Amino acid sequence: MSQGHSEPIVGFRSLGLSAPSLKALAHVKYEVPSPIQAAFIPQALTGRDCIGQARTGTGKTAAFCLPILELIDDESPEVQALVLTPTRELSAQVAAECEKLSYTRPVRFACCVGGKTIQRQIDDIRRGAQIVIGTPGRVIDLLSRKVLNLDNLKIVVLDEADRMLDIGFRPDIEKILRRCPENRQTLLLSATLPGPVERLAHRYMQDPLRIDMSQDNVAAGSVDQYYITVDHDRKLSTLARLLFEQRPRQAICFCRTKRGADSLHRKLSRKLPQVEAIHGDLAQNVRDRVMKGFRSGSVRLLIATDVVGRGIDVTGVSHIINYDVPEDCDDYVHRIGRTGRLSGEAGFAFTFICPDEGDQLTNIEIRINKLLPQYKFKNFEPCRVKPRSAAPATPPPAPPVVKEEVEEEWAVF
Ligand code: AMP
Repeated sequence: MSQGHSEPIVGFRSLGLSAPSLKALAHVKYEVPSPIQAAFIPQALTGRDCIGQARTGTGKTAAFCLPILELIDDESPEVQALVLTPTRELSAQVAAECEKLSYTRPVRFACCVGGKTIQRQIDDIRRGAQIVIGTPGRVIDLLSRKVLNLDNLKIVVLDEADRMLDIGFRPDIEKILRRCPENRQTLLLSATLPGPVERLAHRYMQDPLRIDMSQDNVAAGSVDQYYITVDHDRKLSTLARLLFEQRPRQAICFCRTKRGADSLHRKLSRKLPQVEAIHGDLAQNVRDRVMKGFRSGSVRLLIATDVVGRGIDVTGVSHIINYDVPEDCDDYVHRIGRTGRLSGEAGFAFTFICPDEGDQLTNIEIRINKLLPQYKFKNFEPCRVKPRSAAPATPPPAPPVVKEEVEEEWAVF
């Protein structure tokens, strides 16, 4: 694998894009390419295989959508580009971005994800979709029904490849890649490049150029990150206090499990308006409704699990709260990537660490190569034991938590 890094390029004009793309970019008011766009687009336009190390929120979708739009023949009714994403929400986001950027072209799409009726997707493909965006399971289904034909495919994109492998899509991805023509171009996007992603790239890509924007992205400087040492039984009151002090414009609160997310949602929605939960067990129409509410701003606090929360791209997110510390430190990077976005607005990330989770904090700090400061509340102590030091034999008595004070703190939105 060769390494590639571009010089800073100022305008979209210098990236080799055609007049229709430049017109579409002006229409969507993208004035300056983001670093991943500046580095990735000129390379992808040459037709070579590329690996882009970048996360959601850095403009990576346009980085691969624009080359797709340039390289396909919009007069042919064959499927020429396939984008695989780990979640339904991410597929919908990619389709929306692609649609925005293609408004000057007569391009047809099919968004093929589970949880939606397959017939509409079949109709979209039969009507001559040139770009198919979807999750691996549904794409396999359409391939086995012989509705989707990849013989004329020019480009395949593996978006958030690390997450697709994490959630067990490896066999499906390999099955799909084996059905793609050998001479296609493969673009792989991933926030991190762990061994399984490297192996996938090695097997299914030809001498890929690696474009590493992770330095710009990992633990982005625009996100102020803190940890909070908290007792297991004080997580809820700590969350209340944090929301009270921080007054987030919009926040995502991450939980480790679907049950945990549901339980927190039940407790919070008794206290607060504008709170919703999203996870993989919810029906697709519920997930769509919740995401719509979050995008429009009518949902202020979203409780999410990693799989679904990861691809969420909402520009107004000011705070990420890791109510449960992520099990995998790559998830930390993905979670905090939901804030401090391209807009340059500041974001905040708070990670709850229980006294027995010190190792997980250390792993995160190693991963992001940075020590996280501890967040101190003004008049509230979320933990009975001193953080980061050996626990005394007998923990000091808990400082009193005044009941009314906690109740009052919920009036945050
Ligand atoms: P992404 O990383 O693809 O999820 O993009 C994050 C957000 O940034 C999306 O809302 C995009 O519409 C927006 N965006 C992408 N590229 C640019 C750009 N060059 N200038 C301004 N906004 C952009």
